[in-house]
Amino acid sequence: MFIPQRVIFETGSLDYPLGRQLYSRFKAEKLPVLESSLNKIKSNIPGDTPAQLYQSGKATLVVGVKKSLSFQSCKPSAHFQLPLVSGCTGQCEYCYLNTQLGDKPFIRLFVNLEDIFRQADKYTSQRLPDTTIFEGAATSDPVPAEPYTGALKAAISHFAAQENARFRFVTKFTDIDGLLGLEHKKHTEIRFSLNTQTIIKAYEHKTASAKKRLEASARLYTAGYPMGFIIAPVFIYDGWQEEYRELLLELRQAFPASASRPITFEVISHRYTTKARNKIAEIFPQTTLDMDNEKRQFKYGQFGYGKYLYPGETLSMVKEFFQREISRIFENGEIKYII
Ligand code: SF4
Repeated sequence: MFIPQRVIFETGSLDYPLGRQLYSRFKAEKLPVLESSLNKIKSNIPGDTPAQLYQSGKATLVVGVKKSLSFQSCKPSAHFQLPLVSGCTGQCEYCYLNTQLGDKPFIRLFVNLEDIFRQADKYTSQRLPDTTIFEGAATSDPVPAEPYTGALKAAISHFAAQENARFRFVTKFTDIDGLLGLEHKKHTEIRFSLNTQTIIKAYEHKTASAKKRLEASARLYTAGYPMGFIIAPVFIYDGWQEEYRELLLELRQAFPASASRPITFEVISHRYTTKARNKIAEIFPQTTLDMDNEKRQFKYGQFGYGKYLYPGETLSMVKEFFQREISRIFENGEIKYII
């Protein structure tokens, strides 16, 4: 369980019952507790080098109030982001959040969940009769903060009662047993992000092992949740095909033999921007992540900036491999995309 080294309460957070409850809890647990306005939070997080600032940020929990209730769009995964938490306790070297959350990437949870759900309902009504999908992991992995917020539980229950809205999130963490008995009406889709032992060991620091993720996903599947897997980022290294095949076989074995409801797959090959490459080199100076521009193709994406992808031939090989293996191993596998 995530135990922060310091907890910072934003001005206004103690006006909410969850804020007050967390304040009493952290005081009783004798954790360093501070109060601060939002714009001064970073001055309370120590560190000199980029690596130290990163570590201090990851060890800081901010209890906040979501003031701007204008939700960001979240294509192609959903219509809107559902801002329950931002930041993540994991330390994946390739993480997309490395360039999104500044030099002190603290974990920020929100105590005004009711305001957030009310706003989600407004967006849903505006899109009627269409169904609106909300993504709960666009700027976070929401599971590590769940024991403090209960935000996922609340969201699952909220969306179970909505005919025209759906909720989804993705995680690399396994503290999900609190979600098993909830009434979800299949309105929440839970996805696990997976990778091979080699990649998890080398680059996905402070996340759950593949075995634990598989066990947790099987429990959620048995509890009736729509389930999916994001295999990402796929890296090409000696033995990659054997290891990814092994991963898919372990996944099949983790599920009940009779599992017949669909299991979805999204497969994303590794890519990076120049900004991400520079940031990773600062935070993880010893990184062995494969980011050799010479061995990649450069492509402009839909947001106007370029990324370094594997060459076309390699991408075709990845596509062909996962299409073949997923179809062979899973009768109920549905491939959403392989990129
Ligand atoms: Fe980033 Fe996900 Fe790793 Fe957290 S678990 S550091 S959000 S990639």
